Amino acid sequence: MENFSGKTALISGATRGIGRAIALGFLEAGAQVIGVYAGNTQAAEVFMEETARFAPQLELVQCDVASEKQVSALFAMIEEKYGSISILVNNAGIRRDAMLALMTSSQWQQVIDTNLTGTYFMTKQAVWLMMKNKYGRIINITSPVAHLGFPGQANYAASKAGQIALTKTLAKEVAKKKITVNCVSPGFIATDFINDLNQDLLAEYKKMVPMKRFGTPEEVADAVLFLAGSRAAYITGTVLDVNGGL
Ligand code: NDP
Repeated sequence: MENFSGKTALISGATRGIGRAIALGFLEAGAQVIGVYAGNTQAAEVFMEETARFAPQLELVQCDVASEKQVSALFAMIEEKYGSISILVNNAGIRRDAMLALMTSSQWQQVIDTNLTGTYFMTKQAVWLMMKNKYGRIINITSPVAHLGFPGQANYAASKAGQIALTKTLAKEVAKKKITVNCVSPGFIATDFINDLNQDLLAEYKKMVPMKRFGTPEEVADAVLFLAGSRAAYITGTVLDVNGGL
């Protein structure tokens, strides 16, 4: 495993599911981790207890990535306390599924605001710090629905496709500054995110996966840590699928 000591990683949605595994991966690899969550303080407290052995290496911050004001305050704190960050993982994401004909503008907007505009707010701030250092790794967690589509997920698919377009564009803008920008695209991963789906539907989805199983958060985290590491220095503007062959 690559050693990330001396590197500071900012991870959104770090207290549950995929983000939690990413945060743990970076902690185990020696990084300083700043983990962001939206409002589930109970999950944040549980994660804090589980990671007590890494105590000085982890700071959790409640911050809504969809709020430009809160993201600005987060980065003001980061600059004052840590100086800069080397790694940003835009992992926070939500679903508000409905067929488009029935989708409310609130369902549409909440998903776009969190998944896409949140990525923009976080990334814009991070890029300023990374450009000063002439180094950075940005990893955005997208989804296969960005190119496949999925009934009931027009808002979510649009937000995830937007993340890919943002990634490819920014990668070209900041390549000269030694900042790489990539996506990881997980398939079905067993987290709270898909817990609300009924068991029959989940069994159907499992059959669709060539490997006939859902992935684990740790399998996604491994891909993120690879892209954040020195061996991925020449990889930028790409999407790494972690989906069991979907
Ligand atoms: P979970 O629902 O398990 O966790 C989501 C995390 O994001 C939580 O920590 C939550 O904080 C945080 N979060 C949500 N909204 C905000 C916000 N506005 N500001 C800050 N933090 C926020 O999701 P997963 O771990 O499953 O998903 C992580 C990412 O992976 C998402 O972007 C998702 O779209 C993507 N993905 C997931 C797949 C899956 O099958 N699980 C498949 C493909 C992609 P809190 O706990 O406070 O609510």
